[in-house]
This record gives sequence, structure tokens and C-alpha cells, in this order.
Amino acid sequence: MKPEIWVFIETRWGKIMAVSIELIGQARKLASQNYEVAAILTGDNLNPFLSPLIKAGADKIYVFAHPALTSYRSDLYPSLIAQLANKYQPAVILVGATTIGRDLAPAVAALLYTGCVADCCQLYFDAKGELLQIVPAFGIHAMATIVTPNHRPKIATVRPGVFPKPKDASCTGKIEYLSLSLPPERLIFQEAIRETISPSSLIEASVVVAGGSGIGCQEGWDMLQELAILLHGALGGTRPAADDGWIPESQMIGQSGQIIRPDLYIAVGISGDMQHMVGAQDAKVIVAINKDKRAPIFQQADYGITGDYKVVIPLMLNFIKNKEEDF
Ligand SMILES: Cc1cc2nc3c(=O)[nH]c(=O)nc-3n(C[C@H](O)[C@H](O)[C@H](O)COP(=O)(O)OP(=O)(O)OC[C@H]3O[C@@H](n4cnc5c(N)ncnc54)[C@H](O)[C@@H]3O)c2cc1C
Repeated sequence: MKPEIWVFIETRWGKIMAVSIELIGQARKLASQNYEVAAILTGDNLNPFLSPLIKAGADKIYVFAHPALTSYRSDLYPSLIAQLANKYQPAVILVGATTIGRDLAPAVAALLYTGCVADCCQLYFDAKGELLQIVPAFGIHAMATIVTPNHRPKIATVRPGVFPKPKDASCTGKIEYLSLSLPPERLIFQEAIRETISPSSLIEASVVVAGGSGIGCQEGWDMLQELAILLHGALGGTRPAADDGWIPESQMIGQSGQIIRPDLYIAVGISGDMQHMVGAQDAKVIVAINKDKRAPIFQQADYGITGDYKVVIPLMLNFIKNKEEDF
């Protein structure tokens, strides 16, 4: 039997999170002829998720369904995944570096007495079969390669958007339904409340309007929100915008926030520091609006508008509203 690379499949509100599909694609590339890719699917009503996972490249899906697992729980999921790992001994476990993944992965690592490498941006096996886990270090001024030769499984988290979504791999995956024991005192699940703005809306949006510390007032943020809504997009921002409470932390873009790949990224009142741009540089088209013509963002933008956003954004809003039937 080939050793397995596992991908923890994160589902929310009836959808597989994009990062889980991206990780199946990356696991498929890593697996080559030497490993099998297994998706770890836990939750409730899981049947609709099986076919997309096989299409993405899973050779096998371990399915464990239980109503108590409908939403992620720190008191159940890590011990469940650790139980499974003890039983099946995977070589590698990949987890999306989402809020949930960042809770799950280190907890599983601690239960298995192994390590967890957070926020990997590249993963590959070297000639000796050692997994190289590459992470940004010292801001993003250096890349560190981390190997964990003495521990197994290797556990790595990867942020959404780092790897592309796989093309249809058309695998013929096997499905293994598991029966495991859950602690009876933890089986009551009451309710999960959905956030109105979720990080996934930012990650999955094809248009993102983002603001920086140049916005500075409620009226300005209301304008950006309106622009995002008119373009059927999502609102994001920089670290200072999150620190000052204009956007939730989950909507922050950059090295310590979300990595996005929208078709259109409109950066308003953002200087374009490296730590921010690393999260947005893969946008197909970048439009920058900044009153300082020397702002570094103009070096990376496909289109730059030098001017005060308080003048520019109302013009854009008016233009779009007048053409609304086209949008
Ligand atoms: C380890 C580390 C991790 C970090 N991670 C992140 C991260 O994940 N994401 C992130 O964003 N940052 C991150 N940062 C912070 C980052 O280095 C920058 O400080 C930050 O991105 C700058 O945010 P900003 O562009 O909003 O602000 P500023 O750099 O202050 O830029 C504001 C811009 O607004 C323009 N402006 C002002 N008024 C107007 C106006 N009326 N109209 C138009 N333009 C105007 C100004 O000309 C200026 O260019 C990190 C820093 C460190 C050290």
C-alpha cells in the first residue's frame, strides 16, 4: 500500500472551502506515483462533497458523518483527526490556514507529538523523499525551508489562494466510511451562527475593493463598500485599516491576512507596502488610486489614478450607476 497524503476538507454552510480543493490539487502534484491522496471529510450530510473531491484528485475519501460534527468544534475535531491518523498513519496532513485550520492543525500536531509548519507557500519532496516546507520569514525578506525528518506525519497549513485550483483530475476515488467513537458528553450540537461578512467572500470574490489608512473616515469606507457592492465584489483592506477597526481582521489582505487572486483589485489609499501586496499581487488587474504619485503601489498597478479618492470614487460610482445595466 502506498503512503498517504491527507487533506483536511473544510466545509462551511454546505460548501467545500476553496482552499481544500486547492490543497487536493497540490497533494496530487506532490503524490506523483509514490503516494495516494486522501481527503478527510467530517461533518454531516457529506454526500454532495464526494464527487467534487474525486474530480479534484482524491484517490480516497475517509468519510465520518455525525450530526455533532455539523460545524467545526475545537473540542471534537482535533481528537477525531488524531484518532484517524493514529489508525491510518498518513505521511503528510495538509490543512488550509483558515481560522478553523489554524485551530485544528497545531492541536492535531500536539496530540500526535509531531510538528506543524504554518503558512507554507511551497511544498515539495526532495530527491530523498523529504518534504520541504517553504515559509516566508523575517517579514517576507527571506524564505525558510523547514524539514521535519524525525517526525511523522508532517503537518502543514497553507493559506487560501496560494495554490491554484486543480483542473478536473477525473480520478476514480474510493470512499471509506468510518465508524469512530465520539465522547458521549460532547455529542450535543446546538447552533452555529453565520457571520455576515466571511473571509470566503473576500477570497472567492472576482472583484475586490480595498482601502488603506488613506481612507480615514466612515464616509470614505461607505463609498468603498458601495463600490464593492455595485461591482458585485468584496471589501478588504490593509493592516492599519484592520487595526483601526474599519474592517474586520478576517478581511485584511497581505502577508498576515488573506491571499487573494481576484480578476480586479482596486486599491484605494494604499501605499503598496510589500507585506500588503504579497496578498494581492496575483490579481489579474490592479487599479491603484492614491494622491501621492510616488506611492509604491503605482509600480505594481496596471492602471494608476493619482488623486484624492474623495474625488475619484464618487466619479466612479456615478459612472457605474449610469451604466448599471452593463454591470
Ligand atoms: C511582519 C509584518 C506583517 C505585516 N502584514 C501585513 C498584512 O498582512 N497586510 C497589510 O496590509 N499590512 C501588513 N503589514 C503592514 C505593512 O508593512 C504596511 O504598514 C501597511 O500595509 C500599510 O498600510 P496602508 O497602505 O493602508 O498605509 P500607508 O502606508 O500609511 O499608506 C496610506 C496611503 O494612502 C494614501 N492616501 C492618503 N490620503 C489619501 C486620499 N485622500 N486619497 C488617496 N490616497 C490617499 C497615501 O498617499 C499613502 O500612500 C505588516 C507589517 C509587518 C512588519
